[in-house]
Amino acid sequence: QEYLAAIAAQNPAINGYITLDAEKTLAEARAADERIAQGRGGALTGVPVAYKDIFCQTGWRSACGSKMLDNFVAPYTATVVQNLLDAGMVTLGRTNMDEFAMGSTNESSFYGATKNPWHTEHVPGGSSGGSAAVVAARLAPAALGSDTGGSIRQPAAHCGITGIKPTYGIVSRFGMVAYASSFDQAGPMAQTAEDCAILLNAMAGFDERDSTSLEREKEDYTRDLNQPLKGLRVGLPKEYFTASNSPDVQAALENAKTLLQQQGAELVEVSLPQTELSIPAYYVLASAEASTNLSRYDGVRYGHRAAQFADLDEMYSRTRAEGFGSEVKRRIMIGTYVLSHGYYDAYYLKAQKLRRLVANDFQVAFAQCDLILAPAAPTAAPKLGELNQDPVQAYLSDIYTIAVNLAGLPALSLPAGFAANGLPIGVQLIGNYFAEAKILGAAHQMQ
Ligand code: GLN
Repeated sequence: QEYLAAIAAQNPAINGYITLDAEKTLAEARAADERIAQGRGGALTGVPVAYKDIFCQTGWRSACGSKMLDNFVAPYTATVVQNLLDAGMVTLGRTNMDEFAMGSTNESSFYGATKNPWHTEHVPGGSSGGSAAVVAARLAPAALGSDTGGSIRQPAAHCGITGIKPTYGIVSRFGMVAYASSFDQAGPMAQTAEDCAILLNAMAGFDERDSTSLEREKEDYTRDLNQPLKGLRVGLPKEYFTASNSPDVQAALENAKTLLQQQGAELVEVSLPQTELSIPAYYVLASAEASTNLSRYDGVRYGHRAAQFADLDEMYSRTRAEGFGSEVKRRIMIGTYVLSHGYYDAYYLKAQKLRRLVANDFQVAFAQCDLILAPAAPTAAPKLGELNQDPVQAYLSDIYTIAVNLAGLPALSLPAGFAANGLPIGVQLIGNYFAEAKILGAAHQMQ
């Protein structure tokens, strides 16, 4: 009730939540109370959580930020959501996002932009900007996001909170609306790395309904939280520490370096030479996968359907013309083009090869270090309208996050200082496959 009251008072100014249902929330809360009274509660029982609009949950509208799914009430529940429900967490609502998770500012949402709670003339980042904003504004103690190309880490950084994108395959994608399936991964967003570790414990696990889910033994992601950093080798990729970052971001990176050194970590220079290839590789591959994933929105099975059409072809085209926003259409066109006969080898196949090169860079670097320190974005959160003028400019701002998705690696973003204008700045810790516990431990020590 306390959170619902705060949301009613403060959400209109930031537009972080786009779907609320107090009755459902309070029913879940009462069930949690009962469970605690019966002595069946766990650490998360009764703790409220917000879900990015990309996660399906029975009976809740899950629109993925799109007009196409504005009328879609999910008939089933995503595995991650179910896992948190099983732990007794209480659903607060669904948070705003860029349409189909395509964007870096939240401005492509059909439901209007979310505002950064630190400064409402600025964006919260994207695409999980609603989740980041509601956690930062204390309108949820935790939220789930999804990260295809930085969408957990970049908004977490812009809103001064902590978020982790796990190794590809350890969190189920079942029930999370597909954008680019070989990249998409869900993860927790919260105030601290400790909270993220507790949430990840509840979220992760094998799921036979996700064909890329990994069968691994259950891990305790909190196990390294109190591990001292002495002797930890932290790599500084020379391609990431450049003058193209804003001075505020450079200063935050220096803060993080000092903090690590003070605690006995050893800083080593490493190189990720293929860094600049990651943007063209990502935007070819993610758009290709998006164009096939989004072909299901045809007006026949579910979602929006045009009211007027002469025949079936016109029904398809009008439905899609009306239902999708301009950024989604741009991605579908790019994706269809790079997959088409005659261009497949030149673009799609080539991009797959670049993906391998980018992934190999990290393996060379991890021979020299345990974790990598990196910026989360080249600047603090831009002003509303500043980035969405020019799509290429927006794509370029993903330079520090998307290589991790190309490689399928885990990475976390944590607060590391403030810009001159008062906006928070985050930095990333990137680990090798399955190094979540190590990343979370280092982040906890830095917090
Ligand atoms: N900026 C990236 C994109 O638009 C973010 C994607 C994501 O992580 N969902 O593709």
